[in-house]
Amino acid sequence: MEVMQVLHMNKGAGETSYATNSTVQSNIISTAKPLTEEAILDIFNHVLPESVGIADLGCSSGPNTLLVVSEILDVIYAKWQQLGRPCSPEFRVYLNDLIGNDFNNVFGSLPAFYNKLKEEKGSEFGPCFISGVPGSFYGRVFPSKSLHFVHSSSSLHWLSQVPSGLESKDGRGSWNKGKIYISKTSPDCVLEAYSSQFQKDWSVFLKSRAEEIVGGGRMVLSFMGRRSTDPRSKESYYQWELLARALMSIVSEGLIEEKKVDSFNAPYYAPSPEEVKFGIYTEGSFILDRLEMFEIDWDGGDGDGDNYDAPPTSSTLSNGARVAKTIRAVVESMLESHFGGDAMDGLFQRYGEMVGNHLAKTRAKYINLVISLVRKV
Ligand code: SAH
Repeated sequence: MEVMQVLHMNKGAGETSYATNSTVQSNIISTAKPLTEEAILDIFNHVLPESVGIADLGCSSGPNTLLVVSEILDVIYAKWQQLGRPCSPEFRVYLNDLIGNDFNNVFGSLPAFYNKLKEEKGSEFGPCFISGVPGSFYGRVFPSKSLHFVHSSSSLHWLSQVPSGLESKDGRGSWNKGKIYISKTSPDCVLEAYSSQFQKDWSVFLKSRAEEIVGGGRMVLSFMGRRSTDPRSKESYYQWELLARALMSIVSEGLIEEKKVDSFNAPYYAPSPEEVKFGIYTEGSFILDRLEMFEIDWDGGDGDGDNYDAPPTSSTLSNGARVAKTIRAVVESMLESHFGGDAMDGLFQRYGEMVGNHLAKTRAKYINLVISLVRKV
């Protein structure tokens, strides 16, 4: 399955849209902000171009899209002012995502965004040209040496395709029966298929950006990962484990067929820092300046004050429903194309209950990696 054809965040601004359910990702952007600022300031210690090229990869559509742009423009413009430059640079901002992304929703919010920029920064600022660039970041999307800063948040854990080699050739069907990602019981060949797809994609990603970014230019990338070298560590797969269980539970109700679950695998991978570094060193065009790891609660909050020993209450259960909505906004397009739209409400109802039960017992967290890279000169 090519991710390009089936993956898009839920469109529009309604109840199940990504725009309404992206606080986890917005917390990730805020947590990575100091690193983003530091990287940007470093670029412009060395060059002061008249026209600055900026790209956000996997921009999606919703409040986070322009939040990121606005943060980046703020830092660059402040740097120009601090240096006492007589005029502002021209900003070229490229928003990239897959072709199925709701670019029109982003474009619709641009007039108000341009007005806000003018009000906040005055008429000296800019000009700023924001454009949409559809296409997969696993390949070239921008002209050579056209970018100074590349940002990407919560996107690079998506692979370009479901790894090949998950189908068994001995007539048993799938090597990953009843599961949709790496799981505690997955055989080694499943782990290998996933990690080798990740290395392939990561290398193509770096090679493509190496062409597009000027020497001394930078990238700040944040994505789901894991601390452990072991891909069977719970922190890296448990949201998929519960989703597989919810799917199997609606199989038992006859809503979907079991072989449909066996043949579905998520085009997703949460790499370890070692795997990320290995790809950077072997590709060779970038220097890894920083790599940090942080935890983000499944429900997007910092979880302080929650009592995880308490018995489940209606509030922990509704936390489950809330988390299920954030996952639904991300994965529904993909699941729908495989399992059909009719199964979705029942599936996410069940998933919400399971997540609620899990949250009542433990404080569930995602591990996020954020890295800052410099294009070698
Ligand atoms: N950056 C936003 C959106 C994250 S959602 C935020 O932080 O809120 C992840 C986005 O990555 C989705 O919109 C998805 O379509 C996009 N994406 C996944 N694979 C991609 C690829 N190969 N090329 C471009 N975009 C991709």
